[in-house]
Parts: sequence; structure tokens; C-alpha cells
Amino acid sequence: MAIVGGGYTGLWAAYFAKKLEPSLTVAVFEAEQVGYGASGRNGGWLSAMPPGNRATFARAGGGLEASRALQQEFVAGVDAVLDILRAEGIDADQHKGGALVAAHTRAGLGRLVARRDADLKYGLTDDEVHLLDRDEFQSTINISTVHGGLFYKHCARIHPRSSSTASPTP
Ligand SMILES: Cc1cc2nc3c(=O)[nH]c(=O)nc-3n(C[C@H](O)[C@H](O)[C@H](O)COP(=O)(O)OP(=O)(O)OC[C@H]3O[C@@H](n4cnc5c(N)ncnc54)[C@H](O)[C@@H]3O)c2cc1C
Repeated sequence: MAIVGGGYTGLWAAYFAKKLEPSLTVAVFEAEQVGYGASGRNGGWLSAMPPGNRATFARAGGGLEASRALQQEFVAGVDAVLDILRAEGIDADQHKGGALVAAHTRAGLGRLVARRDADLKYGLTDDEVHLLDRDEFQSTINISTVHGGLFYKHCARIHPRSSSTASPTP
């Protein structure tokens, strides 16, 4: 099997092809160096936040239930990546500490309340996204101007360069 491009897409495809069919010979062709593109220089967020508009996903087919299932796939994806890094002995400076979204105004907090309602509608559970009041937020990070915020449980940091170029332990 030939795969063109040594970014996350190509490398994960190669990894799973080999896992699913160990007899396959898989070659990854990379024009520059592995991790040369966005995969080697992104922000390092390994997050379950959907990369797009959830209402649009729901309209695209399958409706609300499909959109909710997609959200839970994103949630599972975070731990799946971390599990594989662990199993393969890859140190990508990974740490699952969750993500905070801060409201710096009262109106901003109102928008986060609405966002959390939408999060629950589109498939996150009560346990996965918490509304924090000012004191709860400040006990995590002491931002003096904060009015409160959201805490998302399923988010990790991962070093893009290490995670896209590291070799598994032989
Ligand atoms: C600034 C920035 C920040 C980001 N932050 C995040 C983040 O925090 N969290 C997150 O989840 N996502 C983030 N993303 C998105 C994420 O990094 C990309 O979606 C992901 O890396 C895409 O991976 P890819 O393998 O599809 O593409 P790429 O990483 O671009 O890999 C494509 C590879 O193909 C090679 N190539 C191209 N043409 C050929 C050819 N003809 N022959 C051989 N090789 C070829 C390129 O050299 C490259 O190495 C960010 C993106 C950017 C740009």
C-alpha cells in the first residue's frame, strides 16, 4: 500500500492499515520530511471540540442523533490517541488536563451558558462540560477579570512535532 503525505492523516492511515492487516507492506511517501505540514506545527490541542458547526452537521444527514454520535466519536478520539501513544511508548509531552473557556464579561458568560446548552443538545454529557462560577474558575486560574467559564473534560495537550515524528518503541 502506498500513502502520499507523512502528516497525521497519512501516518494514522498507515498505522491502522498495518494494525488491521499486518501482512500489508505500507510505504509512506513524504516530499519534505515527516511532520513537515500542519501536523508538525499546530497548536497542540487534542480536543473533542467539534471542528465546525454542529447544526450544519445535523442538517447534512442523519439528523441530531448522528450529530450526537459524531460528538461522542470526538470524545473517544482523544483517549484513543493517548492510548496509542502510551501503548507505542511515544513521548509527545501529552497531558490530559481539560480545557477552560473564560468569560470576561457578564454577557460573555451568558453566551457560554447558551453554548453549554448546545453542547448538551449536540452530544456532550453533564459530566463532560461544566459551567464554572467566578470562584470555581479562579481556583483553577486566577484571572482577576473573569466572570466564570466552561470546563471541558476531554482535552489534552500534545506536542505536534514529537507526536508526528516520533518512532514507536521497537
Ligand atoms: C497553525 C495551525 C494550528 C493548528 N492547530 C491545531 C490544533 O491545535 N489541534 C488540532 O487538532 N488541529 C490543529 N490544526 C489542524 C491540524 O494540524 C491539521 O488538520 C492536520 O495536521 C492535517 O494533517 P494532514 O496529514 O492532513 O496534513 P499535513 O500535516 O499538511 O500533511 C501533509 C503532508 O503531505 C506532504 N505532501 C504534500 N504533497 C505531497 C506529494 N505530492 N508527495 C509527497 N508528500 C506530499 C506534505 O509535505 C505534508 O508533510 C492546526 C493547523 C494549523 C495550520
